[in-house]
Amino acid sequence: MTTDFPEIRDAVARLCADFPGRYWREHDRARSYPKEFVAALSAAGYLAVLIPDEYGGSGLGIAAASAVLEEIHKSGCNGAACHAQMYTMGTLLKHGSEAQKRAYLPQIAAGSLRLQAFGVTEPTSGTDTTRIRTTAVRAGDAYRVSGQKVFISRTEHSDLMLLLVRTTAREQVAKPTDGMSVLLVDLRAAVGNGLTIKPLATMMNHATTELFFDELEVPAANLVGEEGKGFSYILDSMNAERILIAAECVGDARWFVAKASAYASERQVFGRPIGQNQGVQFPIARAHVQSEAAALMVVRAAALFDAGEKCGAEANMAKLLASDASAAAADVCIQTHGGYGFAEEYDIERKFRETRLYQVAPVSTNLILSYVGTHVLGMPKSF
Ligand SMILES: Cc1cc2nc3c(=O)[nH]c(=O)nc-3n(C[C@H](O)[C@H](O)[C@H](O)COP(=O)(O)OP(=O)(O)OC[C@H]3O[C@@H](n4cnc5c(N)ncnc54)[C@H](O)[C@@H]3O)c2cc1C
Repeated sequence: MTTDFPEIRDAVARLCADFPGRYWREHDRARSYPKEFVAALSAAGYLAVLIPDEYGGSGLGIAAASAVLEEIHKSGCNGAACHAQMYTMGTLLKHGSEAQKRAYLPQIAAGSLRLQAFGVTEPTSGTDTTRIRTTAVRAGDAYRVSGQKVFISRTEHSDLMLLLVRTTAREQVAKPTDGMSVLLVDLRAAVGNGLTIKPLATMMNHATTELFFDELEVPAANLVGEEGKGFSYILDSMNAERILIAAECVGDARWFVAKASAYASERQVFGRPIGQNQGVQFPIARAHVQSEAAALMVVRAAALFDAGEKCGAEANMAKLLASDASAAAADVCIQTHGGYGFAEEYDIERKFRETRLYQVAPVSTNLILSYVGTHVLGMPKSF
């Protein structure tokens, strides 16, 4: 809610004021990485909000992290360039060894080490994660990784990547979710030595890539947790990711609603403000109602997460409601602006493209509905 973490919100809004629409438009046109924005957020410590104090972070929890990302998006900025620096480390924090945590977390908290790449999706398996084909074979003190990933974001702007691989074939395990493992890959050493990164252009400026692994050697010491249990480890990070992306969508929705209502009140056509027409006013009011309802679900999911309680249902519902709300608000905002909604200088078309992603990634709306239908409501599974 807007009343939560007022100091953090004010400070983030002030930081974002240094990165106006012009800044984002230029990076969007050039498809370049907004490194100045990421550097400012890192320097201010906002990307270390979830790292406990003992490892150099502020240990504030996901509700505070949500406030940071929501405010970034409400200010017209885009957290996608670096949001994963906040939560990817969650798998390491929860399942890594003490030696791994001591080695990496303080540097991640300081921003000197970037862990903001999370490699799960593959071209052939898609959403059906248990069918991933990227395989790691143990050979002495190392794993040899071969396979392919797609849409893996920020790998060119990250030092480390958490990678989901198969260590035991699907046919040889009791449950399809068994036999997968998480490796911490040092991208600086890997590129050119078994890993090739290929940028993948998309409809928005997102720094996403394809990855090709050819016998990449990863030290066995970089296995996170136990071999074969990686799927359950990444589920923890996924709940955090869903809550935080939902918070970004709430921020986007509020940005669109504010823009649309201001414009509808100012723009005069037929001798009166267009917002006086209920055909213009009501869709904006509805978008506001939807985004505020979604915001409440984000708060609820974050509270459960921070209390260490089960939050899978709420994290998924928050993500669905918030991404629906931001997409609806984006559409209303364009419609309210008429032709100007399509003009780059208004930033609406850019944010429209950016927020549209969240109905597909990091998990698509259909897959959330399937989770709610089967895991929450107990209906029969379709797959
Ligand atoms: C810009 C961008 C950045 C990304 N970043 C990352 C990243 O950093 N790391 C990463 O691992 N992944 C990343 N992804 C991948 C993203 O998580 C996937 O695109 C998403 O999970 C969907 O997988 P898919 O594209 O293979 O679609 P598919 O699995 O092929 O699905 C296509 C469509 O069919 C629907 N569908 C599939 N099966 C069913 C079913 N049984 N019932 C109903 N509907 C179904 C889906 O909902 C979807 O709408 C990113 C994607 C994009 C576009």
